[in-house]
Amino acid sequence: METKVLEPTPEGLRIAGEIIRGGGLVAFPTETVYGLGANALSAEAVARIFEAKGRPRFDPVIVHVAAPEEAEALWSEVPPLARALMERFWPGPLTIVLPKRDVIPDIVTAGLPTVAIRMPAHEAALGLIRAAERPIAAPSANRFGKTSPTHHEHVLEELGGRIEAVLAWGPTPVGIESTVISLVEDPPRVLRPGGTPLELLREVVGELRADPPQVRGGPAPSPGTMRRHYMPRTPLFLLEPGLPEDGWEELPRDRCGYLGFTAAKRGFRFGEVLSERGDLREAAARFFASLRRLDSLGLSAIVAEPVPEEGLGVAIMDRLKRASRGVARLNAHSVWIKRL
Ligand code: AMP
Ligand code: MG
Repeated sequence: METKVLEPTPEGLRIAGEIIRGGGLVAFPTETVYGLGANALSAEAVARIFEAKGRPRFDPVIVHVAAPEEAEALWSEVPPLARALMERFWPGPLTIVLPKRDVIPDIVTAGLPTVAIRMPAHEAALGLIRAAERPIAAPSANRFGKTSPTHHEHVLEELGGRIEAVLAWGPTPVGIESTVISLVEDPPRVLRPGGTPLELLREVVGELRADPPQVRGGPAPSPGTMRRHYMPRTPLFLLEPGLPEDGWEELPRDRCGYLGFTAAKRGFRFGEVLSERGDLREAAARFFASLRRLDSLGLSAIVAEPVPEEGLGVAIMDRLKRASRGVARLNAHSVWIKRL
């Protein structure tokens, strides 16, 4: 794929907006860093972000809007504090986390019931969102593990040939990422420090939790506080070939849900197939919604078929492995599990 380098003109924005509407990827400047944007209302378009970045795992992605009303249409609850924050800090480097509406696909939030939204203070970013006529999901426009790009040349070095276009606007003014604040917790909590200083936030919010960012190898955050990753409540087991052996635990098949990649439902009453044609992009796009549906049924276990660990399959398997409590094998009537 040849990556178009689009000039800072109305025509450049028009073309970029069309690419987003068509499900393509456009890197664009914001006041913080360059973002890698896709239509936030399309699960497949957002799956392509993870593919292009080569991210080996799914993380929730920030949704960018061009006006507070557009954010209000994507959240299911908008407390007065959110309005006060938007009024004071938007457009600008403040991202607000609140419960999402169903129009936001699960892959945007990595399965979480909340969505992070901000309105960037950059004419090109706002021009792109308006031209696309829809909200734009975007993480930083770099390959996985690299630093966030503050110039379109950095974007081209890393993602050239992997995305449809980049808006070439030169350096970004702030260069650090947005502050992320969750209003789902009480008191509100800063999930990531960034371009909006905490002292200014406290003027509006009052009491604010801002535990220091996690140290690598440090203690895990206490469960339920930092809900930055969706994990199913139903115990999940990874399917492996072979028949049950001594010591395996038997579960009736109709008490189990099946999360399959391409195969049919294998006689399960509750089953989801991620992609009949074996397409990992489609599988990624459906993954979180399928997992959540099975998780909502109150079953004893979810049996998940592994996917190939290549491309987006790496991120899918990362989530399955982290959610799994052990392995499962099947025989004609039952599911057999071994907890690990
Ligand atoms: P970036 O990839 O640089 O855009 O970073 C996105 C940041 O926002 C990460 O720290 C995410 O964990 C955080 N984030 C995005 N969406 C959510 C959400 N729904 N709940 C909590 N944190 C979020
Ligand atoms: Mg990043």
